[in-house]
Amino acid sequence: MVGSAAQRSALDGIRAVLGPSGVVEEARAMAKYVHSWRDDYGVSVPLVARPSTTEEVAEVVRRCAAADIAIVPQGGNTGLTGAAQAMGGRAEIILSLERMTRIRDVDPVNDTMTVEAGVVLQTVQDRAREAGRLFPLSLAAEGSCTIGGNLATNAGGVQVLRYGNARQLVLGLEAVLADGRVWSGLTALRKDNAGYDLKQLFLGTEGTLGIITAAVLKLFPLPRDSATAFLALENPAAALDLLVAARERFAEAVSSFELIQRRGVELVARHIDAGVDPLATAYPWYVLVELTGQEAPGTLRQAIEEWLAGRFEAGQVADGAIAASEAQAATFWRLRESLADALLKDGVSVNHDVSVPVASVPDFIAAAEAAIGEACPGIRPLSFGHLGDGNIHFNPSQPEGSDAGAFRAEKGRLNRIVHDTVARFSGSISAEHGIGQLRREELVHYKPAVDLEMMRTLKRAFDPQGILNPGKVLRADGPA
Ligand code: FAD
Repeated sequence: MVGSAAQRSALDGIRAVLGPSGVVEEARAMAKYVHSWRDDYGVSVPLVARPSTTEEVAEVVRRCAAADIAIVPQGGNTGLTGAAQAMGGRAEIILSLERMTRIRDVDPVNDTMTVEAGVVLQTVQDRAREAGRLFPLSLAAEGSCTIGGNLATNAGGVQVLRYGNARQLVLGLEAVLADGRVWSGLTALRKDNAGYDLKQLFLGTEGTLGIITAAVLKLFPLPRDSATAFLALENPAAALDLLVAARERFAEAVSSFELIQRRGVELVARHIDAGVDPLATAYPWYVLVELTGQEAPGTLRQAIEEWLAGRFEAGQVADGAIAASEAQAATFWRLRESLADALLKDGVSVNHDVSVPVASVPDFIAAAEAAIGEACPGIRPLSFGHLGDGNIHFNPSQPEGSDAGAFRAEKGRLNRIVHDTVARFSGSISAEHGIGQLRREELVHYKPAVDLEMMRTLKRAFDPQGILNPGKVLRADGPA
């Protein structure tokens, strides 16, 4: 919806500044930007702007601010909360960072890499590896999500246990503010207490306070050795005991500890790869464990083998496979990384990305399964996620043979039941995916009023016109 002459003229100005390759306007070409990964959100916009430099981003923002056009920043469009989609009801464009793909610097002495926001996560990982370094952020969407999107959502993924969330992997940022000014905070300092840490304003705030255009990322030594095991367990409590024991034995070498319920393996086998199960017998729960370190290659594999022998004897682990090669480790990981896709192909599910204190995970899963089973008899539970971070994707599916539309209509009620359970365990209704449009009303329900008021104060201060990703995280028409 572009109403006024000033808005039409601003769009003309953007076309002129960016040139033909810098804008997408044809409906079919725009579809991949307009619709979300799960295709659950998508409101059309008159134009997708694709600036290729920070100055071009700033120019687009200035023109939008002058004509009161809202801007939805977008990276790889793999987000799961509708945060990179337009909402309609006012003049709005999508601003894709996908042409900002320069790697400005790799510094193996300072252990940093300076990249533009549109660089795909996997490219960052590859460039780090070429320099003999590790960039540890890793998630199933890494082939298409961008570093700007990762930082704007404070992405988590499968190595948070050892290296932290995206927030912990950044030293400096460059961002365009709501009035088009460029904030240049691209410091590579590891210590800097000179005033407020302004980069935090843009990390995890989903493009609502500024548009990230570049970042200085932290690099780490590239592990020389690794060991990957797929282990079968009777229940989540056994998985938690195993996590504690693994951390006692291997300390920070435990880089991933992923929990998977049996139904997840069955879904991947049904929809993605029939031969995916590494074990001959079915068990109710599994963990995928990865150790990494600087030992001589093969050392960790031997160490985990010896350690697991004791775990089998103690009855803590029911069965398992240790990857004999990198290729086999990759097949274990493919199973884990295919879960979201397999679930999507399996009909309607009610998804939750929640966290509770790590020690409460088994009790939370039991309580949430009981509550949701009572509310919706026949619902088919599925939990998987980052046990080491207390982050569970609790994603039950519609009862077998039930009506998809009727089940979809129940989502709000079922969300409330699960999130009330999360609240009882002092957890969070969004562990790593953010709020976007999807969890906005629930945020109001579960966050204390003081928290919401501080968030609104920041939004008013940094975006007084409300043009940056309006309606995401906080309601655009919420109390001032
Ligand atoms: P987009 O989807 O394009 O945008 C996401 C948000 O960031 C929006 O609010 C958008 O406005 C904002 N944004 C994007 N770029 C910028 C920018 N340059 N400046 C300011 N704001 C910006 N997430 C996890 O945390 N952990 C996982 O393990 C995980 N696994 C996933 C697996 C699959 C199969 C899929 C599809 C998604 C998964 N995700 C996961 C969610 C998603 O990949 C992450 O949220 C990712 O960080 C989004 O990056 P993106 O570039 O695709 O961002």
